[in-house]
Amino acid sequence: MDENISIVSGQLIFDLGHPGRQGVDLPAIDVPRKEDLVPAAYRRRNAARLPEVSENEVVRHYTHLSQLNHHVDKAFYPLGSCTMKYNPKINEEMAALPEFANLHPLQPEDTIQGALQLMVELSEALCEIVGLPAITLQPAAGAHGELTGLLIMRAYHESKGNPRKTVIIPDSAHGTNPASIVISGYQVVQIPSNPHGLVDLEILKKSVTEDTAAFMITNPNTLGLFEKQVCDISQVIHDAGALLYMDGANMNALMGIARPGDMGFDVVHLNLHKTFSTPHGGGGPGSGPVAVKPLLEPFLPYPRAVRKGDRYGWEAPRKTAIGRMHSFQGNFGMVVRALAYIRRMGALGLRQASEDAILNANYLRVKLQDILDLPYNTGCMHEVVFSANRQKARGVRATDMAKRLLDFGMHAPTVYFPLIVPEALMIEPTETESRQSLDRFIEALQQIDREVDEAPEMLHKAPHNTPVSRLDEAGAARNLDINYFAGKV
Ligand SMILES: *Cc1c(COP(=O)(O)O)cnc(C)c1O
Repeated sequence: MDENISIVSGQLIFDLGHPGRQGVDLPAIDVPRKEDLVPAAYRRRNAARLPEVSENEVVRHYTHLSQLNHHVDKAFYPLGSCTMKYNPKINEEMAALPEFANLHPLQPEDTIQGALQLMVELSEALCEIVGLPAITLQPAAGAHGELTGLLIMRAYHESKGNPRKTVIIPDSAHGTNPASIVISGYQVVQIPSNPHGLVDLEILKKSVTEDTAAFMITNPNTLGLFEKQVCDISQVIHDAGALLYMDGANMNALMGIARPGDMGFDVVHLNLHKTFSTPHGGGGPGSGPVAVKPLLEPFLPYPRAVRKGDRYGWEAPRKTAIGRMHSFQGNFGMVVRALAYIRRMGALGLRQASEDAILNANYLRVKLQDILDLPYNTGCMHEVVFSANRQKARGVRATDMAKRLLDFGMHAPTVYFPLIVPEALMIEPTETESRQSLDRFIEALQQIDREVDEAPEMLHKAPHNTPVSRLDEAGAARNLDINYFAGKV
């Protein structure tokens, strides 16, 4: 693996440059030198080993690195469940405005009226989109939103005298759902889906008890299917005094078409970095606002930005709040980008985005059925889940097909998830792809399907045209070694 990586990047930044070379010329220092202020015991004895490089060496190096990886600005990225839609550059321009970018989170209210107004307006827009009246912008991602929602539901049950013990999820749930349930102090009860890939209402009825705090589902679910019985589900859950949570990661299928609040959900989290086109991936900042019904509003994290007459400010303290889920207001830059997106799209534009996302997924569903198994053969929402069962019978697995797609300059779909589909290939094209790019993807998969018979060995070793070829993924995670200097100094 080491060999592989040195071939790719050529050199690390530490290998570039020349002693004494620098990228910027700084004026002579006109304040006391640090040597005069920091006691000797705390001063470094040897100079830090930093790269000595010119500005253009730095720019070329990082531009090169940015091209080794796949990203939405490079090519098609149909990673199911992740909604890798294009991030409009106007969002970046808005977030980079110095009036936003240079704010300090501790500035007094009257100096940050614009930022407060922006948070209030985004909150109102998101509430309208999900059909719920109150929201927090603090959580930093979808999973963090889940935890926030669960703690809110726990606080609600506690206020009624009994926090209850369990949260039910279907077996198609995203892995973050059970993890969040456990972290919030509840036990997970998992129920099997019915033969159509939807919640099995009869099994749900039998599973709900007085210990059930909530039922947590994704809608449309991770198979890309809309839970048609959601109103009956809501009835069953609420009759038992439990609450209904929607994992809103798949909201890209519903904007302007259907609202979780109208379906009976008490809590929903959104992923601004999925549905609302803020950047995503590589561990970068995300944002997972959580919206709730009025009965849960007292428990939302504190504080929220609110209207105060024709001004804006922080809400008055609330003793019932679950506390803070993030320092200050969460990832404010994502809030700016999401509002820029919503404003530019408008209500009809958002609806059109969801409709186009659904259309694109169904186009792939129909076109790829000749070569791939479709375990749940009905119209889908914004994503479609195939199985590579037919290919597996011929000696090639979903992972081989996914790796081979990289040779065509496309990102692979999500594989082996949802867990209930063997050899799953979960494809989410998003609305920002053209018919031509979908057709190229279809052609690539058709070619790969021919290669299953013609060149199976080549598929087992794919990818071949990428900076690194097949890596030992388990080894990379288990024997993590990211220290360049280890063993060199
Ligand atoms: C992405 C996703 C999550 C988790 O969201 P993060 O922002 O990655 O933490 C949860 N559920 C589903 C269905 C998802 O697709």
